[in-house]
Order: sequence, then structure tokens, then C-alpha cells
Amino acid sequence: MTTPERKLTIAVIGAGIVGLCTALELQRDGHDVVLIEPDAPGGRQAASYGNGTWLNPGSVLPMSTPGLWKQVPGFLLDPNGPFIIRWRHLPALAPWLIRFVLAGRTFAQIETIAAQRHELSKSTAADHVALAAEAGRPDLVRNNGLMFVYPDQAAIDAEQKTWALRQQLGIRFRKIEEAELRERQPELGHVYKLGMHMEDGGQITDPGAYCDALFQLALRRGATHKAARATGFDFSGGRLSAVVTNAGVVTCDRAVIAAGVHSRDLARQAGDDVPMISERGYHVVIPDPGFDIPVGLMPSDGKMGVIWTPQGIRLAGQVELASTDAPPNWQRAQILLNYARAMFPSLGAKIDAVANEPGSQHYWLGHRPSTPDGLPCIGAASRSADVMHAFGHGHVGMIQGPATGKLVAKLIAGRAPSYDATPFSARRFA
Ligand SMILES: Cc1cc2nc3c(=O)[nH]c(=O)nc-3n(C[C@H](O)[C@H](O)[C@H](O)COP(=O)(O)OP(=O)(O)OC[C@H]3O[C@@H](n4cnc5c(N)ncnc54)[C@H](O)[C@@H]3O)c2cc1C
Repeated sequence: MTTPERKLTIAVIGAGIVGLCTALELQRDGHDVVLIEPDAPGGRQAASYGNGTWLNPGSVLPMSTPGLWKQVPGFLLDPNGPFIIRWRHLPALAPWLIRFVLAGRTFAQIETIAAQRHELSKSTAADHVALAAEAGRPDLVRNNGLMFVYPDQAAIDAEQKTWALRQQLGIRFRKIEEAELRERQPELGHVYKLGMHMEDGGQITDPGAYCDALFQLALRRGATHKAARATGFDFSGGRLSAVVTNAGVVTCDRAVIAAGVHSRDLARQAGDDVPMISERGYHVVIPDPGFDIPVGLMPSDGKMGVIWTPQGIRLAGQVELASTDAPPNWQRAQILLNYARAMFPSLGAKIDAVANEPGSQHYWLGHRPSTPDGLPCIGAASRSADVMHAFGHGHVGMIQGPATGKLVAKLIAGRAPSYDATPFSARRFA
């Protein structure tokens, strides 16, 4: 543990993966941490609970890529695709969508964003392995890679630019031929014939339990938990004196906004109007599959994480654009089950059973906190440098959580990061 020049009391708002990683890094610097979280850390309300669990250092491309606008009509009309916009919400989403399309106009923009995302992603699996060991739960992180599976070489070739960019950034991967694929995962349907193994990838087997383990670790190291919802800040002369909650104030020297998709209003109060929406996603679990998936899979057509968890095989994916509080559409989750039928033909009856109980405990809807350019907001708030932003991680918050925590700790301590962190400033949206 390094000793800071001055021990600070720091309120971390939100105990999802980003808030927890940040709290632990601030404790390493010797600060006192108050975690403000109204619900269970890593509970079902958090994106960090039900995600695809992929720790993929190759998740460097933003969602918005050149030519995407041509596909928008299809997103509005195809009810079975991996991406859908609910018509009724289109007017409210339009300003975000325009920024989203503009952020990925050219491949040069994509290359720049990919290099910036790489800084936050490159050591993800190793970082989570270390955190899980510190928390006494090494069983919750696997670091033997991840695998994309494809029907044929043409499907791999269609993503050639993505693979070339990964190679350019030094991200390691290896093509897996059909015989090896069958040996590795005998249950995989014959629709899928080739694999691309991300060698430095990993997976969290139970992200809810993992968040709880990190929370318990932070408590053991002296953090306090304020079970309340942050509603604002007390500022005086540009300096922060407290975070205001629905259950009183938390006096502090600094605050970190890490409330996932709910960070927007707090960020606005701290001086930054960030265009962030929920990219809603779903998961569905097939219980008691009877086999392991030692390396997390992603079918090239379904674009979803297929992973072993203690609850069963979790299928996590889909992007649904609608307001955060719109009711779930469990048909989106059932699309995931359809891909699973092709992936694991032997699970047909078990898949039918889950499909027949939409909305049961096997189903989950979550909110990816997404900015239009695919970069998170990390850094000082405009109204006061005593407030730090740490939100907006979209599809990759599990991946980028540890690096975000380290960056926030450095910025608070005034230590220079080894890379340029200005692209993550919320001021880019001013
Ligand atoms: C279907 C799906 C699949 C995904 N797959 C992956 C993947 O494979 N890999 C990956 O890296 N990422 C994935 N993600 C994205 C990832 O889950 C998120 O980016 C990440 O969990 C965001 O973490 P967070 O801590 O910012 O937010 P959250 O986990 O949402 O946590 C925010 C916390 O803040 C609390 N909170 C909210 N408002 C307040 C307030 N006012 N005061 C105090 N506390 C508050 C909430 O209760 C919550 O606990 C996926 C997401 C989805 C939906």
C-alpha cells in the first residue's frame, strides 16, 4: 500500500464492477472509502450481475462502425436480429443515434478509438485473476481464453478488418480448425466449423458472486457501506463537501460517480451533460446442461456470450434501444435460445423448457451504460475536480473495470497515467 500525501475520505457512488474496482484501488492508496449503494452490490439491478462475463482484450472496436447507418432501417424492421430499436422510443433516442453514427463514420476514427479502448482492456483477465485471488475467490475467474465460432471461412473473412486491427494492436489469437474445435467442445453443433481463440481472454463464472466477493474485500479493508441512493452534491466555492443521499449526507473530500446507466443525472449536477443511454441487453440460462463450456463461446451470427455459470449455461446478448424503464420484451431473450438450439442440438428439450417460461428466474434484462463513441467517461467533472466520473462503459465494463479503477486512483493522487487519458474526459461532449 502506498501512503498518500493526505488521506482522503472518498465516496464511491455505485457498487457495480466499476465502483468496486475503483474502491479497491483507492484503498491501495490509503484512502478511506464510503461505498454508496442502495441495493446489493452485484445484485440483479446492476449490469454487472447478468452480463456475458467475457474478459476479452480484443473488444476494442466500438459498436458504431462505418456504413452502420445503412443498416438502421433493418434494425427497425428485423425482429430476430441482434440489434433492435423500439419504434416508440425512436424520437427520444434520435440525438444519441446521430452522434453514434457520426462517431464511427470512418475507419480512421475506429482505429483511434480502438487504440484508446485497448489501454483499458489489454490486461483485463490478468487483473481480474489478481483481484479474485485477493478476494479469496480464485475460482470465480477463468483465464484460459475465449472463442468466437464461425460456420465457415467466409464468415471469418467478413470480419477481416477487425482481426487485422486486433493483430496491429498486438492482441494474440489463433485460428482453430474443425477437428480441434470438436475435441475442445464435443457438444457444439456442426453448423459451427471454425474458431478464433482469443488466447489472453478470460471469463468470470459468476459475476454477481464476484462483485459480492470484491465488496466483502473492500469492507474487510475498512470501507463503509452507506445503503442509500445518491441524489446530488454539496459544493462550496467549487469544492465538494458532501454527497447528498436519500438517507442523509455523506461528508467527503472526493466523490466518484460509478452508478452505471444511472450516472447521467449526477454527472449533470457535477457540470457535464453526457449523452448516455441504456443499450438494453438480455440473458437467459439453460439450467443443468450436463456439460462444461471450458472456454466461453460467441457464435458469429448470434453475437452473444455463451458461458458456463454455476446456474447453467448463460446466453447473454442482444441490443435493444428503448428507454431504461420500458418493460422487458422476453422475446429478445428467446432469440438467444434459438441460436443455442443450433449450437447445442443435444439440449433441445432443456431449451424448450426454458422457452416455455418467459420471465422466470432464468431470464434477465440489464442496462449497458452506453456513450455514442464507445468510450467511457473517466476523469474530473467540469464543476469541481473533487468529483470524478467513472461510468459509460457500455458493452465492456467488466473488461475495463480494473483499468478504470487504477486510472481514477492515479488521477486523484495526481500521478500521471502511462497513456493519454484525455479521450475519456466527459468534456468531449461539451
Ligand atoms: C447482456 C449484457 C451482456 C454484457 N456482456 C459483457 C461482457 O461480456 N463483458 C463486459 O466487459 N461487459 C459486458 N456487459 C457490460 C457490463 O455489464 C457493464 O458495462 C458493466 O457491468 C457496467 O458496470 P457499472 O459498475 O458501471 O454499472 P452497474 O453494474 O450497473 O452498477 C451500477 C450500480 O450503481 C448503483 N446505483 C445506481 N444509481 C445509484 C445512485 N443514485 N446512488 C448510488 N448507487 C446507485 C446500482 O444499484 C448499481 O449497483 C454486458 C452487459 C449486458 C447488459
